[in-house]
Amino acid sequence: MSHISTGVTGHPLKVYNSLGRKLEAFTPIDPKVVRVYSCGPTVYNYAHIGNLRAYIFTDTLRRVLQWKGYDVVHVINITDVGHLTSDADEGDDKMELAASKAKQTIWEVAAHYTDAFKADLNHLNIQDPTLWAKATDHIQEMIAFASTLEENGVTYGLDSGLYLDTTKVADYGRLALMDHEGMMEGARVTSVEGKRNPTDFAIWRTSEEAGKRQMEWQSPWGAGAPGWHLECSVMSIKYLGRKFDIHTGGVDHRQVHHCNEIAQNQGYRGDEDSGVNYWMHNEFLVSGQDKMSKSKGGFLRLQTLVDAGFHPLVYRYFALTADYRSTLDFSWDALKAAQTGYGRLLMRVARHKEAGQWPTKWSGLLDDIRYSRGSSYTFIMGQLLDGVSETAQGWLDRLDEALSNDLNMPMVLAALSELVQQEGLEPDEMLRVLALYDLVVGLGLLSMTAEELTLRPAEAGLSDDDVNGLLQERTQARKDRDFARADAIRDQLQEAGVVIKDGPEGTAWSWK
Ligand code: AMP
Ligand code: ZN
Repeated sequence: MSHISTGVTGHPLKVYNSLGRKLEAFTPIDPKVVRVYSCGPTVYNYAHIGNLRAYIFTDTLRRVLQWKGYDVVHVINITDVGHLTSDADEGDDKMELAASKAKQTIWEVAAHYTDAFKADLNHLNIQDPTLWAKATDHIQEMIAFASTLEENGVTYGLDSGLYLDTTKVADYGRLALMDHEGMMEGARVTSVEGKRNPTDFAIWRTSEEAGKRQMEWQSPWGAGAPGWHLECSVMSIKYLGRKFDIHTGGVDHRQVHHCNEIAQNQGYRGDEDSGVNYWMHNEFLVSGQDKMSKSKGGFLRLQTLVDAGFHPLVYRYFALTADYRSTLDFSWDALKAAQTGYGRLLMRVARHKEAGQWPTKWSGLLDDIRYSRGSSYTFIMGQLLDGVSETAQGWLDRLDEALSNDLNMPMVLAALSELVQQEGLEPDEMLRVLALYDLVVGLGLLSMTAEELTLRPAEAGLSDDDVNGLLQERTQARKDRDFARADAIRDQLQEAGVVIKDGPEGTAWSWK
């Protein structure tokens, strides 16, 4: 049920709930405000473009909720402690390892990669969460939470720390479709001595030798650091309540991390509830056979794409071409195709802008979104929709239908590409409808140009001025009928990644 009376948001929103694995009608706890928690990055390295896919998904979710008239309180955490090189309790601490490699303190490493992550999100037009929650700011609350788990009888102590006994909570592993009995018999190999069940996990990891770790806190279980899963239960409950609406993450989290969060929530609350109404997970970005992963190294960053000449929003467009629940295969050719498709879209929008005498009296409204911080789009939508024709409403209905269907962005892009080819809408109306689509897709439809999508590749070796100079020289050489020289210049430019377009009005060029 939608509570907006604009007439275009009438399709009930349905989302896929990983807990139960089915499409469900979305009903928030509070009819006006939706509370969302997204697992954030572990800041021991740059985010790779797979990680960024996860946040393009949460941004889409958030924009859709705002489109549906909800205010969104969105929390993303920053993991700067506790995440081991395996999601189970094995391996080294990722942060400690990165800091010793970089010969820096963990705090320096964390600050650097946190800033880089936020900059990436910004370049992808991802709206800032209402709150960034940093694990190391919540250690005392984690200790208090762990003490409650202990009091509630769901933990046991070992020399290596405090562990959650996964047989003490209801249905452990239901989210992962894990057969718990089978798991117990199959006994996943574990290197932690004394663990009662293979799925049990550390709530607190006691240091073997106090004072050796850079990050260490005193606790009732000795000096040490929290287990990785603890922070998300503690911070989500602190900021969103003991029961909130949506929890997101990549599909890897569906298997271990979120099962453990649920176990902690149940142990803390003392009941069987997972603490969250809808668990939503994005599928992975893959590259051929490989799952892209931070720990493997050699991964692609957003900056890698920029260095190769792609505007960051090309990656956003590319991510939106796939349903969030399908794996998406990255290749340079596929990215190039996205750049072409997005460019074509923007060129068509440019024609409508010319016809509609852009900027219009309402175009400043679009800037306001940047300051919305999770408030619903109701006001902006009301302004943009004021007096539009039934035809325009029909296009918006198509948008609403697609996004209501578990955020079907490929369908939204298909509608958009048809829309820009329409001749039947008044120019101003066309622009309004495009502005409304952009509230959801966040592609800067009215602010970006096709030319901006291609950047100068980092290794081009030529500046824009060099290119212009060489092109003038080539024109002169042609006039002088020195074709060998003209061809040599053309080859030099092509090698540097310049695309030359000779036309009746002279020569234009762009970076490949
Ligand atoms: P991490 O920093 O490893 O904790 O990951 C941050 C987010 O990215 C989590 O929600 C992960 O589930 C998600 N993620 C990791 N790898 C990928 C991938 N290749 N494709 C999509 N999402 C991913
Ligand atoms: Zn988490």
